[in-house]
Amino acid sequence: MRPFQYNRARTLADAAQMLAEPETTAIAGGTNLLDLMKLQVETPGQLADVNRVGFAEIEDTDDGGLRIGALATNTATAVHPRVRADYPVLARAILAGATQQLRNKATTGGNLCQRTRCFYFMNIDQPCNKREPGSGCGAIDGIAKLHAILGTSEDCIATYPGDMAVALSALDATVHIATGEDAERTVPVRDFHCLPGDTPWIENVLEPGEVITAVTLPRPVGGTQLYRKVRERSSYAFALVSIAAVVEVKDGKISRADLAFGGLAHKPWHDQRIAETLIGQVPSTELFDAAADVLLEGARGYGENDFKIPLARRTLHAVLSQATEDAA
Ligand code: SF4
Repeated sequence: MRPFQYNRARTLADAAQMLAEPETTAIAGGTNLLDLMKLQVETPGQLADVNRVGFAEIEDTDDGGLRIGALATNTATAVHPRVRADYPVLARAILAGATQQLRNKATTGGNLCQRTRCFYFMNIDQPCNKREPGSGCGAIDGIAKLHAILGTSEDCIATYPGDMAVALSALDATVHIATGEDAERTVPVRDFHCLPGDTPWIENVLEPGEVITAVTLPRPVGGTQLYRKVRERSSYAFALVSIAAVVEVKDGKISRADLAFGGLAHKPWHDQRIAETLIGQVPSTELFDAAADVLLEGARGYGENDFKIPLARRTLHAVLSQATEDAA
């Protein structure tokens, strides 16, 4: 690990000031960052510890939704009574990720900002455009089992590794970002992460000096909520394909179909055209196939991950079958 300066922010203004300085990285739970620092993948000159800034509360919003502080731990969020009752897809997604010890430390903000687990990114002896712009992408012709099939570019085919944000995308959550002492902007979580394009090192819309303060969930909706994660072993593994689904059926027809996908792209994948394909229709195998066609339009495998294309189709079938049966 390279030497770095450690500073503890005591207020939001402190944190914003520190994070506006070059080569400064925020640390909260540190469950991803410290690993990357030990591997010298991340070599910040300064760490800004934001743990004392506040923002750990989980509280009701005036419109009946829920505000989850950026420093709420994943465990606190997953066991919160309102999350379990009104947003079970979020609890299930969080519990499908990592281990209990990691969830006890990992935070909402840190989880959103976690970095890809691409083998080449994590190994400083390998080429990686994300870690070292212009050095190439080792994964495109290499070990790519975990890699993306949607929204890839010639420069990067990495996946976003998390589960929580996939559920937040299905729930159409909003990310709250402090842009100064008293200023805030909000970003739909569906727009928070970026596709790689020719700048794969830009992974989200945070600017220097900005701090995530919370995520808000809209008022709960009816229907069935599911999170299905397909992975190589039953715990402590990243998704090959995951699907968060909020599905409602009324009078025999699908009336809501909010779906988001993990393990397929550089960001939690959401395509509004899938809902448009499903809503107003009677559930059927043919309909689920049509939804999968929309999802996989433009999908491209890179050899080792070709299997994700049929796997995503089968997983979507399974999720829609279960969700529409449960919701009927
Ligand atoms: Fe780096 Fe992205 Fe290529 Fe992985 S897929 S080696 S993160 S550029």
